[in-house]
Amino acid sequence: MPSGRNRFRAGIIVAGMITAGMSTGLPGLSMVMAGQKVAAVNPSATVARRLERLPAKKLFAEVKGPAPLPPQPVGFYSRGCAAGNVAMPLNGSAWQVMRLSRNRYWGQPVLIEFLKKLAIEAKALDGWNGLLIGDLSQPRGGPMLTGHASHQIGLDADIWLTPMPDRILSRRERETMSATLMTLDRRRINPARFTEAHARLIRRAAKSPLVQRIFVHPPIKKYLCDWTRRTGQRDRAWLAKVRPYYGHNYHFHVRLRCPPGAHSCRDQGDPKEPDGTGCGKNLAYWYSDRPWGGGRRTKPKLFHNGIPLPRPRPKKPKPRKPVTLAKLPAYCHTVLLAR
Ligand SMILES: [Zn+2]
Repeated sequence: MPSGRNRFRAGIIVAGMITAGMSTGLPGLSMVMAGQKVAAVNPSATVARRLERLPAKKLFAEVKGPAPLPPQPVGFYSRGCAAGNVAMPLNGSAWQVMRLSRNRYWGQPVLIEFLKKLAIEAKALDGWNGLLIGDLSQPRGGPMLTGHASHQIGLDADIWLTPMPDRILSRRERETMSATLMTLDRRRINPARFTEAHARLIRRAAKSPLVQRIFVHPPIKKYLCDWTRRTGQRDRAWLAKVRPYYGHNYHFHVRLRCPPGAHSCRDQGDPKEPDGTGCGKNLAYWYSDRPWGGGRRTKPKLFHNGIPLPRPRPKKPKPRKPVTLAKLPAYCHTVLLAR
């Protein structure tokens, strides 16, 4: 249960919008406004509507504890929230959670159980000393102020590719220690760092029926393709789940499928690869320049018949409007405010 401190502190965001004395419209919600605690008594549709227009990432970043509701991933990995998240224990026999100050070590029970099992089995069977766990979700999921587009429904986890040291890291070390870069560039793995133990760990995760996708940097996918071929592994179907994607050269990202009976969870579907592994065409695409912004762009024309043309003004990218609470599934309103 969330403690007093963990309660939703909407004051920071909603202060100035709601005047003291006005009912908040949010059942059970206490708001700290100008140092004054105002208990919500009567729901007010006006306040609820105003809340709906606020950026969801600010609202969800404010909540320090989980929604005391039955576990439920709500919506899609990149547009949703999570009811009934639980915390990953910060230390275990085969794992440690990193970057504690971010408070992103929350997930659906199915994810937490998966991670514990993966950690223990990888340690016992794969020669992997233990998992350093990066970001999962916020206590109630939802969009985040920084970092991820997904990780919103309690089914995504980042696992460092740095092996766990043989000691308990201090809180401070968990904030400051850097993860290890596994690649030399976007095409080449660093063979001094990425080992077969890494490959066995990723294989174990990918083989779990709970897992729908794993994201790795392209050279890691290539390593796995080459490794399974070289060592004559017959079962290579799991490779289709391992998706090359930018930004995964320090960690890999595990995404669980919607658990059975999770009716509010929007399933992404299993990745389908015509070659069964994604080691052919799909990997070739990631080894081309196309995903990296090359190939298509044409240079602007600077002269016409020797006469200089006015330089094309670069278009200012429009700042993307932040996703409001109203843009999330309706149940996320309840998840946000439940206590
Ligand atoms: Zn991730």
